[in-house]
Amino acid sequence: MLADGQRLAPFVIALPSIGCLTPAIISQQTFDAARAVREQRRARCGATDVSAVRYPFSGVIVCGCCGKSYRRHMNNGRATWQCSTFLQFGRSACPAKYIREDILQAAATELLELKIFSPNVFTENIVQIQVPDENRLLFIFRDGHTVERMWENRSRRESWTPEMKQVARERQLKILEGRALQ
Ligand SMILES: [Zn+2]
Repeated sequence: MLADGQRLAPFVIALPSIGCLTPAIISQQTFDAARAVREQRRARCGATDVSAVRYPFSGVIVCGCCGKSYRRHMNNGRATWQCSTFLQFGRSACPAKYIREDILQAAATELLELKIFSPNVFTENIVQIQVPDENRLLFIFRDGHTVERMWENRSRRESWTPEMKQVARERQLKILEGRALQ
C-alpha cells in the first residue's frame, strides 16, 4: 500500500497539524493583556522613547580600542555607528572612528550571500562584529567561525597604536571607577 503515492500523501500532509495539539504556554487572554500593557506604555512614552528602539547592530559591534559597544548615531543626516565611549566622553576617551551603517550592511549582505540586507538573517547568523582596528571588521558567526573584512572610510589608513588602546582602556576604567564611587 505504501507504494501507492496517493494514499501516502494525506498522511504526510496531516503531519504539521500535530503541532497544533501542543497547549499554548500562556492563554490568549494573558497574551492580549500583556500586549495591551505594552501598547499603553508605548503610547505614554511616545516617540521620545528611543531606548526601546533596537537595530540589528545594537549591542553587536564591539570597539577594539576600549571594549564598549557601538551605538547608532546620525551624522549629517546619515546613519552611522560609533563607539559609545566616544559619543559620551569624546575623542580623548576613545579615538574610534564611526562606521557608516550602509558599509556595515553591505559587508553583512555580501558575507551572508544575500541580494539585499536582511536584519532577520543577520541576527540569526551573526552574533558579534569586532572592530580590531581602524579599517578592519571581524564578523563572529553563531556557529563560531569568523570572517574578516577590510573597509576604507577615507584615503589614509590609520591604525590604533598599542599606546592609544592602552590610554582608551585606562580612561574607560577611570570612568567606571568614578561611577562606582558616586
Ligand atoms: Zn571605544
